[in-house]
Amino acid sequence: MKWVIWAAACLWPCTTQGGVSAADLAQQVREISLDPGACYRVRDLELPKDEARLFFTDGYLIFSKPIAGVRMSAVFTADVEGGEAELLVLPPNQGERRSLASYTGSPNLDEHLSAAVLVFSDDTYAKLTAQIARNPENKKVPEAGAVMADQWDGVVRNIAGSYESRLIWDLLLGEPQSHGFLAAAMRGVKLGNFDLYYDRSAREQIVIGKLNMRGNQQFFDVWTSFVAKSFRGRTNDPDLTLSDFRIAAKLEPDLSLSVVTHVKAQPTHGKLPVLAFDIAAPMHVSAALVDGKPAEVFERESLRAELVRNVGNEMFLVVPPAPLEEGREYDLEFHHAGKVIFDAGNKVYYVGARANWFPNAGMQFAKYDLTFRYPKDLDLVTAGDLVDEHEEGDWRITRRRTSVPIRMAGFNLGQYDRVRVKRNGYDLEVCANRAIEPALENQPAPIIAEKPPGPQPREPEILMLPPDLAPDPAARLQEIANEIASALEFFAAHFGPPALRTLTVAPVPGRFGQGFPGLIYLSTMSYLAPQTKAIRSLDAHGRLFFSDILQAHETAHQWWGNVVTSAGYHDEWLMEALADYSALLYLEHENGWQPVSLALESYKTNLLQTVNGKTVESAGPIVLGTRLESSQTPTAYYNITYGKGSWIMHMLRRRMGDERFLAMLADLRKEYERKPLSTEEFRLLAARFLPPHAPDPELESFFDTWVYSTGIPSLKLSYTVKKRNGRLRLNGSVTQSDVDSDFSVLAPVEIQLGNGKIITQWVQTADGAVGFSLAVPQAPVKVQLDPDLSLLWR
Ligand SMILES: [Zn+2]
Repeated sequence: MKWVIWAAACLWPCTTQGGVSAADLAQQVREISLDPGACYRVRDLELPKDEARLFFTDGYLIFSKPIAGVRMSAVFTADVEGGEAELLVLPPNQGERRSLASYTGSPNLDEHLSAAVLVFSDDTYAKLTAQIARNPENKKVPEAGAVMADQWDGVVRNIAGSYESRLIWDLLLGEPQSHGFLAAAMRGVKLGNFDLYYDRSAREQIVIGKLNMRGNQQFFDVWTSFVAKSFRGRTNDPDLTLSDFRIAAKLEPDLSLSVVTHVKAQPTHGKLPVLAFDIAAPMHVSAALVDGKPAEVFERESLRAELVRNVGNEMFLVVPPAPLEEGREYDLEFHHAGKVIFDAGNKVYYVGARANWFPNAGMQFAKYDLTFRYPKDLDLVTAGDLVDEHEEGDWRITRRRTSVPIRMAGFNLGQYDRVRVKRNGYDLEVCANRAIEPALENQPAPIIAEKPPGPQPREPEILMLPPDLAPDPAARLQEIANEIASALEFFAAHFGPPALRTLTVAPVPGRFGQGFPGLIYLSTMSYLAPQTKAIRSLDAHGRLFFSDILQAHETAHQWWGNVVTSAGYHDEWLMEALADYSALLYLEHENGWQPVSLALESYKTNLLQTVNGKTVESAGPIVLGTRLESSQTPTAYYNITYGKGSWIMHMLRRRMGDERFLAMLADLRKEYERKPLSTEEFRLLAARFLPPHAPDPELESFFDTWVYSTGIPSLKLSYTVKKRNGRLRLNGSVTQSDVDSDFSVLAPVEIQLGNGKIITQWVQTADGAVGFSLAVPQAPVKVQLDPDLSLLWR
């Protein structure tokens, strides 16, 4: 019951609106209780929420006592003779029906409920009471209410408490019809406990899922999530546009950060009596000012809401002294502090909240002016053009500014060795740690081989390798700088300019990288020499990953993710697939085809690994995004987003040819500069780059097969060559299995003739065997199915 102990705090002299402060309301939410005087024996109530319909057919319904005049919770139980309740959900498309079926066994939800706890800020109370009043059979039963209050008060307090900030936000906004939500925690007869959300302010209003544990990790498995019927075709703009961040941060010797953040804010529609922001959990906002006047700050964490939102940060509220008006620009000032930097040992540091260390509302493009004050024995890097750097006593002060809007601003720190490279007008700086973190040092002495007794044969060469090198945190500093400079140049030549003209690369202790605008976090593993034990112990793909792919992938994010962005979680795969495949294109340009085929084969192997008898790839279509990381398939998100994503880009390249594929990437960069890209927009753009008269000219079948569905087919080729009427004819067939019966792809059969000529016959596969037949001018030397890795198959 973690959320019960999180304290809310009013950290500034509490201002009020209509006499009620956010902190007052929070106190009341924490003490919410059921109202025996508002308990009813109910029959045939219905709560329709677009595609989700709750029926309280027969049972007891009790409301909570009002807070600021509003009832925001209720409990239903079917705990009577013949008691009944039901939830019906009909997902609007096949993808969502499949997703739901993969968790519940059925494409539609029709679940009988024994109890439901409702928390709401929308019109739920009005809808239910209107129906109660209409039927005289629905009677008040205060005695039953007293029993229910005893039984359920604690549960209601827990669940309502987890939505505390949200409830207060909605209460203060006072527009339940545009912002309100309903959360229902239900006890299903077949499915056990699960949750329904209907949230008007969310991008997808209907979410149904279940909290699950795997090992000691908690997952919110999303069974289905979609835009509700009455919201289709509407845009979901933010309430507040933010621009021109001015951030002054002081890094204390104990690694805590105290920050003053200024940002310009403009309401986009109507008055805003309350503002909602996100910030990393360890950061606490002690004060906020609007145009210099103190505002109330309300902070509170909620476990459930956070898991549903699937972001690692907290929502906090700012209540200005007077509502903000549409069309006016305000200066917001936040004072916040916290510990978001961790010491991995030996002065190797890890920045935990890389994107959320300052208040933000969605990731909007904005300009940044960043000043850091830090102990001068440290190096600190951040994005943008250097404006000033100087020392004051024991402190160093660095100020950088971005010349164009970017989406996030990160920083990194350590004790660095640096290499600077200038190329084609781009300023690159690569930093390496001076010391190695303990996790990478003290590698045990290598065991080369055990010698058998008796006379020794000459030892094979592998045993003659020198012993492992001691890990050097800067072994590849110069090499990485050269490679990233080349990658930057290669991508800029093909795609156009990156997010910023300056790029800094600095290490992060971990086995990952991250590409922020103008700043790359690169795994400390990537800096190690290949003869280091930590690198030697990896397989071939692992070595390639840390030595080449990771830095090129993060460099490519300067375009994909930081110039072009994704429209939503369904489209996030595009950024990863584009970054990863761009990295492979660069590696091919530098080192030839071998590393690309190694990466693609390794991605395929990972996709075909089986968990409980099913392939990882079958977890769901790539457009499910982070929903693929469920308690059932924790590794599916990574393998599908990056591995299958790269394969999708590769197959598109093979359909288009190299020149057209590169032209498409350049066009994508230009057309979607600082704009979100959806999967459908990408399909339409890609289709424009197919060669004339190509089959599947809108790429609809390609996207249905590889993007919106699952399946990697097993394919087998057989053929004979026969002479008839003096002419040679090749008769063959491609047999497909291990996929759904409606699965079909275009598979290339390559026929190599004796004179070196190659004929490619495309075969549209289907369930079972599909024949093909063609005249050949001479006997083929070789007939192969897809020898050039044009298709993802097994
Ligand atoms: Zn990436």
